[in-house]
Amino acid sequence: MNFDRRTTRELVQAIADTVIAAADELTELDRAIGDADHGVNLERGFRAVLAKVDSIGEQPLDTALGEVGRTLIMSVGGASGPLYGKLFATIGRDLGDPRELTRARIVDACQHAIETIRTLGRSDVGDKTMLDVLVPTLEQLRAADGADVLEEVCRRAREAAAATIPMAARRGRASFLGERSRGHMDPGARSSELIVTAVCRFLETRV
Ligand code: ADP
Ligand code: MG
Repeated sequence: MNFDRRTTRELVQAIADTVIAAADELTELDRAIGDADHGVNLERGFRAVLAKVDSIGEQPLDTALGEVGRTLIMSVGGASGPLYGKLFATIGRDLGDPRELTRARIVDACQHAIETIRTLGRSDVGDKTMLDVLVPTLEQLRAADGADVLEEVCRRAREAAAATIPMAARRGRASFLGERSRGHMDPGARSSELIVTAVCRFLETRV
């Protein structure tokens, strides 16, 4: 597909709208095992992104994602701001020329971005964090073949977020609860599911 400027702007808008619409739900999830601010944090960040969406939409996709990332880093308090910020910024940096996007290039850029979160958060799969959605979802994107790649990726993200419910947290605030964090979905896992779903739903309308 052709990622022209208008498409870039609409993609960024779709992600921001989805996260902002779910802010209360994300905050409630964080109330159970954290400090009740995940939705507040992400809403602040994505409202800052929306405030710049006109200028972001003037950029090619890679530069635009870099700007989304920097905006999140600057405007979001809490652990999730720098982590999501780095995720977007790294994808933007490694995507390369948006006129030559291939699935392999997207997968590589996402892989690098996830490595950045692993390093920054000193976290990994099984710690009950956003990585528990991002890693399997990327594996699904890498492996998927056939016509309904986007549907498969969405399904995997949903299952992966649900799979954090029985986990005990080993990173982030929820880790302070240890065993008592079991029985609740990780807020960052849910926000990752929402972001992945927003991207897939957007792309489904364009291809
Ligand atoms: P804070 O925990 O500082 O209040 P948020 O509530 O905005 O920040 O974000 C919490 C989410 O961030 C968690 O649900 C988890 O998914 C993610 N997270 C926290 N710490 C880490 C980490 N070290 N590595 C990866 N993800 C993390
Ligand atoms: Mg929190």
